[in-house]
Amino acid sequence: MKAKFRKLSLLSLLILLLVVFSLIVSTTKQPPVNQVKDTVSSASQTNPSPQSGSASTQIVSNEVQQQALSYYDQGLKLYYQKDFSEALSLFNKALFLNPKCYQALNGKGATYAFQGRYTEGIDLIKKALNLKPDYEYGYFNLGLANELASNWSDAISAYQTALKLDSHDTWAYYGIASIYGRQGNVDQTVNYLKQAIAIEPDARETAKTEHDFDPVRSSAEFQALLQQTPTSALQGNTDSSSKKNSLMFVLYYHSVLTEKGNPIRMPPEQFEEQMRFLAEHGYNVLTPVQLEQNLRGDGQFPPKPFLITFDDGYVDNYTNALPILQKYRFVATVFIVSSYINGSGFLSADQLRSLQSAGWTIGGHTATHLDLSEQKPDQITAELQTSRETLKSILGQDVLYFAYPYGKHNDTVIKKLQQEGYRMAFTTEKGWVDSRQNLFLLPRVYCYANMGMDEFIRRVTCPDY
Ligand SMILES: [Zn+2]
Repeated sequence: MKAKFRKLSLLSLLILLLVVFSLIVSTTKQPPVNQVKDTVSSASQTNPSPQSGSASTQIVSNEVQQQALSYYDQGLKLYYQKDFSEALSLFNKALFLNPKCYQALNGKGATYAFQGRYTEGIDLIKKALNLKPDYEYGYFNLGLANELASNWSDAISAYQTALKLDSHDTWAYYGIASIYGRQGNVDQTVNYLKQAIAIEPDARETAKTEHDFDPVRSSAEFQALLQQTPTSALQGNTDSSSKKNSLMFVLYYHSVLTEKGNPIRMPPEQFEEQMRFLAEHGYNVLTPVQLEQNLRGDGQFPPKPFLITFDDGYVDNYTNALPILQKYRFVATVFIVSSYINGSGFLSADQLRSLQSAGWTIGGHTATHLDLSEQKPDQITAELQTSRETLKSILGQDVLYFAYPYGKHNDTVIKKLQQEGYRMAFTTEKGWVDSRQNLFLLPRVYCYANMGMDEFIRRVTCPDY
């Protein structure tokens, strides 16, 4: 969802805001604009700010909290559609019911920032963070609001905090890259943009038309990053003239949990809708072992084959995803960071064994989630060995499959994986698995919260989505 916003260049957004503003100024007597204005002002009249009422000191019942969150949800949708005045009115409704609804404070703050009310917006987001100090989306919006306000160093530091809380936040990397881009800092722009692209390859397309990168656009490094062809296409296809023969797709998730504004957490009801679609349309789930056999030419693919994968080992893979998958008789693969096992929010050793018994495949994702392409050979070996031994001692069997943290790899990393006995590895490059697939550069189809069923169906039915 954040992606949607970042996809609009900040410059074009500012232009848009200016146009909207000048429309309001020049046509205040025309009914449509007045209607918009009325909605905003009536919202602010009927909904006092969180501090002004006695409600802030009252305990808010569960039911009311839920109603507030539901207003927030509706508001967030409108915010993403850039309908800021309607979004604001819904965030205000949420805050009227529950002044401590930190999500709504955060949403309202970001909306204000887009309306040019930077100081007020930043204050609201900070209030949300006081209520919920580990709120990743709060830090992301704090970065965004400061970026919109041109407070570059505050923006970078907020985005950095967001990344500490969630190292997969593509658009936080992208935000930092775009700030360095405007400052003409080629090295840092390329450094951060590369990390965004590693997680979400679509970021490359967005960057191609992003005016924030204009000051660095002509540099060789930046051009090289934009032009890069996915390595899977280069190394998997030795004969570039041959026609692609897409065989199947590998779905790629992290967490299955409802957390508004966090794209890596797929709400369970959306996850279920996706699984139901696959089940009702005759798709056949594979295990990595079956995939490997088929790719090596030892077996036959069933019709409509696919694989389900989860990265990082979130506890909700067990509590939320497993029951849904069992309902549709699907199994999945989870790539575990071994030092996260038994950690808060992550799978325990017992849960890993239960998943294994349920037919799931447990794969490797290093010991500490490092970018392996940046490590010395010894460190790569240590990461691979430690994680593999830990998993082996828990599961009583070998770990054969791997996913690269941040999707990052190079020839040394691949060689080390092969030496350590891994048999296939998954990247974050977008696309379907091809008949000439390099087994250590398997692409995956990324699934994120609120992607919508149309987009999901597009990705699982069009190999060149
Ligand atoms: Zn990961």
